[in-house]
Amino acid sequence: MKLLEHEAKSLLEAAGLPIPKGTLITSINQALKPPLVLKSQVPVGGRGKLGGVLIVKNTQEITPTIAHLLSHPIKGSTPRSILAEELIAIQKEFYISLLIDRETASIRLVAHAKGGIEVESNIPGTLFNKTVTADTVQERADELASYLSCSPLLIKPFVNTLFRVFTAQDATLIEINPLILTASNTLVCGDAKIELDDAALFRHPDWHFEDTPSNANFVTLHDDGAVATIANGAGLAMATVDAVAANNMRPANFLDIGGGANTDSILTAFKQIVEYPNVKTIVINIFAGITRCDEVAKAIIEAKKQIPHLPPLFIRLAGTNFKEAKLLLVAENIPTLASLDECLDAAKEVVYA
Ligand code: GDP
Ligand code: MN
Repeated sequence: MKLLEHEAKSLLEAAGLPIPKGTLITSINQALKPPLVLKSQVPVGGRGKLGGVLIVKNTQEITPTIAHLLSHPIKGSTPRSILAEELIAIQKEFYISLLIDRETASIRLVAHAKGGIEVESNIPGTLFNKTVTADTVQERADELASYLSCSPLLIKPFVNTLFRVFTAQDATLIEINPLILTASNTLVCGDAKIELDDAALFRHPDWHFEDTPSNANFVTLHDDGAVATIANGAGLAMATVDAVAANNMRPANFLDIGGGANTDSILTAFKQIVEYPNVKTIVINIFAGITRCDEVAKAIIEAKKQIPHLPPLFIRLAGTNFKEAKLLLVAENIPTLASLDECLDAAKEVVYA
């Protein structure tokens, strides 16, 4: 489960980590004082580069900027809220994260002295990247302080607490980018990304997070792929991608819409898919159990209405509420096919036209 930035920051704050003072805004009639940073609460990264993080210095700019952000989708996600934060004077931006390394079944502490929106352009091999345990966390924090050339008095308590939150919250990822060293030599979490282990839900009755579309399993396979896929269940979604490739077509993505998929979350997936530059067709393969075919059908109908230049869809639906779905689709003249094979044959005609 991926948390939104404001949810992630609340968890960090509750553990005693420093976050900027902020207010969550869902409508525009709220009294705020500049200067502020206004941040779109969407479950995707790279908002800064895509216009989702804006600094406002005058009172008159606040309302129009919030209105703009609320209606401005980022990578297909429209925010339901905006985080308004005090503007921090930055001295340095660090990158710091804790994550599960599945290969070695351990937790890794990864960091870079140059964080911020250009972090991907850092030279490979210059990362701080070490295994960390409850026994070694002090030592690692010391090493990290010297790697970052930052006072151990600041870094050590920060890393200690971060490690404690990571394990206590059953996180699989906590990424702070930027960790801001402020002009007054304090540390503040400028941004926070947290992913929690769904399998640990039973241990955390306190977990109440917004169900964002990112909680569906959407993975880009080839940015230049010709065939996008929408399926339900990890197994069927993988089989669908494999079948596309076995038919000599390049799959763009893997998507398991999950049992709780609704019209909105599926529609968001369509919006993500149409951002791929070379997608020529979308193959939809649903064998509904908990998922309901009529929710999928409604999303298909909405996608056709809302998305201009939607590529041709080849749809195979079976299972729960198939009849209801079929009625909805027939009313809109949207055909379905009987099998995945038929969908792939039709897709080939489009891809190799
Ligand atoms: P992301 O692009 O989605 O990762 O969004 P971030 O929250 O990381 O913000 C992107 C960038 O905006 C940061 O790397 C900072 O350079 C800048 N930024 C964010 N908050 C502040 C702030 O309070 N003060 C200043 N000066 N810059 C900020
Ligand atoms: Mn960031």
